[in-house]
Amino acid sequence: MMCTGATRVCLFVLNWVSAMDYGTFFFANIVSVTVYTACVSLLAWYNRRVIGMAWFAGALVVGLVKLILQGLEGKVPPVLSGMLANELYLVSFVMQMMGLRWFVHREPLRHKWPFVALGLALATYTALFLFRIPYGGNVINVPNITVCCASAWILLKYGHLPVSRISALIVVAEGAVMSYRAWLTNLRYTRPWETVHAETDPRWLYSLAAMTFLATCMVMCYLWHLVTELDKELAEQARTDPLTGALNRRAMEEAALRETARSIRHGHPLCMIVADVDHFKNLNDSHGHAAGDCALQALVRQAKAMLRGNDLLARTGGEEFTILLPDTAASSGVVTAERLRQAIEALEVPFEDRPIRFTISAGVAQFDPSQGDWENMMRRADSAMYDAKEHGRNVVSPRAARPQPAQTDQTYII
Ligand code: GH3
Ligand code: MG
Ligand code: MG
Repeated sequence: MMCTGATRVCLFVLNWVSAMDYGTFFFANIVSVTVYTACVSLLAWYNRRVIGMAWFAGALVVGLVKLILQGLEGKVPPVLSGMLANELYLVSFVMQMMGLRWFVHREPLRHKWPFVALGLALATYTALFLFRIPYGGNVINVPNITVCCASAWILLKYGHLPVSRISALIVVAEGAVMSYRAWLTNLRYTRPWETVHAETDPRWLYSLAAMTFLATCMVMCYLWHLVTELDKELAEQARTDPLTGALNRRAMEEAALRETARSIRHGHPLCMIVADVDHFKNLNDSHGHAAGDCALQALVRQAKAMLRGNDLLARTGGEEFTILLPDTAASSGVVTAERLRQAIEALEVPFEDRPIRFTISAGVAQFDPSQGDWENMMRRADSAMYDAKEHGRNVVSPRAARPQPAQTDQTYII
């Protein structure tokens, strides 16, 4: 039943497509690509920090120029309507690949060889076209299909969201249709400068319709990628403190809940450092509020540089920071806090003509499920920090120098 239904739909679409003439369809294609190009370019311009969108817009612009050149066949020299158009086709697919790569794998390209290979393919194709060597079009077709396969591979390897998988499916389908069109060309036309008889051969019309449909789906995926990216940015903003880039209190609470559950499940230690800038009000009063902001940013930079990848740093008050150290007992936490205290003490933050110096006091506590939840750990770390303040500031409580017994739970006050 399903099969008959699907066949009927396919036949209907084929009848419908074949009722059109190639020229009209080609023109409609140029119009729709122009609209997509304008929309995606505008979106790319207004979201300039999303580099992947610039690649997508570039790919569409290049693709549009290619279409226009093809449309001018007979009115401009074949070097433009044939050779340059085909070259631009390859360039646009490479740009699309770069855009997709940006969204799923932010690292810059480590090797230059893909661009060298692209340059070589373009140069070879130019030579073959100009010397009218038969089957020269394959020098563009094969790299184009390879770029589609490479795009799908990148999407499947680095992208884990539905948008990556669907984009991969579309580029594979594009590669398949492209292979079919390449096969048609190889079968019927041996000389690259000869015009394909697209008007009389319906296979060109069907395959062009398929390419148009897939290109439209791809543009939808461009937008989907952008929405996913903006969504990620919003989620990130909701979790971070805008001044310092550290996590905010809400994110720290979520992390603390997660880490305490993990600590209970695996029996691993977990500890927390609460650090507060000493006499921060004085610093603000003497150097100005901007200097205070600068000091807070420098503190976070320094702490991030010293902490491990899975440690979590949050700004939980004006000049108060909380550090969550998974898989760490209080004794090691005290050592970390002491290293941070010393680093901050030694830090000279450049600000206008007067460098800023400041210190911190810190308290450390280890999670103990028998005493309560993470809030209990935070209260103990907080009260240890106040003890540090009472002991003269620029101090870690408990002190690192004194050897710690193998305790698991208490806050040590020395
Ligand atoms: P203590 O050593 O006891 O911690 O003294 P303190 O001066 O650091 O603490 P207090 O709580 O008296 O003052 C904290 C100051 O931090 C007051 C507030 O204006 C300032 N502050 C809070 N948030 C910010 C901020 O984002 N930027 C700047 N520059 N200052 C801030
Ligand atoms: Mg303070
Ligand atoms: Mg404070």
